[in-house]
Amino acid sequence: MFIEQGPIRPPSEADSLLIRVTRNCPWNRCAFCKTFKGEQFSRRPVEDVLADVDTVSRVAKQVGEISREMGREGSVTADVVHEAGARHGHLHYHVGAWLYNGGQNVFLQDANSIILKTDDLVRVVDYIRQVFPAVDRITTYARADTVARKKEHELTALREAGLNRIHMGMESGSDQVLKLIQKGVTAAQLEEAGCKIKAAGISICWYVMPGLGGRQYSREHALETAARINTVNPEHVRLRTLSVLKRTPLHDLMTSGVFEPLDEDEIVAEIRLLIESLQGVTTRLVSDHILNLLQELEGNLPGDRDRLLSVIDRYQDLPGDEKANFQVGRRAGVYRFMDDMRDPSRHRYVEGLLRDMGEPGNLKKHLESIRRKFV
Ligand code: SF4
Repeated sequence: MFIEQGPIRPPSEADSLLIRVTRNCPWNRCAFCKTFKGEQFSRRPVEDVLADVDTVSRVAKQVGEISREMGREGSVTADVVHEAGARHGHLHYHVGAWLYNGGQNVFLQDANSIILKTDDLVRVVDYIRQVFPAVDRITTYARADTVARKKEHELTALREAGLNRIHMGMESGSDQVLKLIQKGVTAAQLEEAGCKIKAAGISICWYVMPGLGGRQYSREHALETAARINTVNPEHVRLRTLSVLKRTPLHDLMTSGVFEPLDEDEIVAEIRLLIESLQGVTTRLVSDHILNLLQELEGNLPGDRDRLLSVIDRYQDLPGDEKANFQVGRRAGVYRFMDDMRDPSRHRYVEGLLRDMGEPGNLKKHLESIRRKFV
């Protein structure tokens, strides 16, 4: 048995069932992104998507049978997931793992599935709810320009069918930065889309990319991004620090000197300005991407504002050699949090890594190259 699945999902959808309703990205021109480069966008026929949902239902029944054969009385335990995968392959493992994690979350792939005709997307969402009554969260990615074109009643219909959350790559709230990176979206469209989504009763998660304005627009990037967040008050803002990938237009801008990337300390300072500029929002700030230096930057605004700023203070107050130790340890996967530096064996190990890098001037180059491997 087979269902079609795309290459990406948000980090927070790691435990979700992935149902592909469109293929690739209809825009495909953002200067930092190469996820779908060279791939043609297409809408999958709705009947094919519904057939995939039926296939998942059959696989879920088979996983249940395997559970009973193993004496687990239909409950999906870790050994049942492994057995299902070992007997039948990836799809059984994926569906088994989804059930093991509660079987409640579904993510609709790929990059902008809201572009489907609203009636078609409503049919898909509705059908998933019918076939899997235990599902309580269905989410998708969407571009702001596409959402801004939707009528309010269309978004309401999607919410009524059961679409709970839209993940949106905001990247920046600054028109200058959005133009630089060819997002094809304006700050006004971001606000319009965000307000429409919220008015329809759908939760919104905006992805912000620290560092995206480079040195020239860093301040504007932080201030204008905060301004859009202040207007829309999204439920979630997720940080996903820029990594300039080779063979992207942004890399070309960097090598020609038009785009000057920030170093780790400048990015932390930029995030500080962003947080300081958030006013009157009840947003959860999340820092769950491996590209983010400070994973501790998670909390609910406004209550956690001072704690978040104190995390940044703590980093900024580190002596230079300790900052370098943390940057390398974090990027090498030795540390997750600053507290991990207190472990003497890990600290010594990172000191060794730093020595192997040679001249202090090599640090930036090494860190960039490690960061590129995370995307
Ligand atoms: S909209 Fe998203 S997937 Fe499409 S090119 Fe931009 S960043 Fe990449």
